Amino acid sequence: MEWKFLVDIMLGRLARWLRTLGYDAFYTRNGIDSRMMVLAYRENRFILTRSKRLYNKIGPELSVFINSDDFRDQVREVINVLGIKFDRNIFLTRCLNCNLPLMELPKEDAQLKVPPYVFQTVNRFRACPQCRRVFWSGTHISEMEKLIDTFWERKGDQ
Ligand SMILES: [Zn+2]
Repeated sequence: MEWKFLVDIMLGRLARWLRTLGYDAFYTRNGIDSRMMVLAYRENRFILTRSKRLYNKIGPELSVFINSDDFRDQVREVINVLGIKFDRNIFLTRCLNCNLPLMELPKEDAQLKVPPYVFQTVNRFRACPQCRRVFWSGTHISEMEKLIDTFWERKGDQ
């Protein structure tokens, strides 16, 4: 299932992690007003919020109330409530800053945009069509994966 989100103010790190996992997570710094709610309904976006008032207004069919202050627990809340499984096929396919799908970048085009040792050891690069940042798999990814494993570990304990 392709999950899409509208992430409320105060949940910026959660939005970035959902993007890391490959999900479309639109983040609003201005809070969720009626215009934003219309957008969410139209695009089938789950609203993630720390506002009990907003959650009560929208209901559990289209929103999740986030309890925790800690982004790791916030990610766990979302995946547990919605039953989201880790999908390696979409992991790191989206820009963490812009929320846009990354595009394949031919290796020769990456040469001037990444450190020389990265260019020598990595074969596959992706780039954001908007901010032009280049992404690749490397040691920082295994650190990320260790943290991601802990998101799902707890669910298995239940
Ligand atoms: Zn970007």
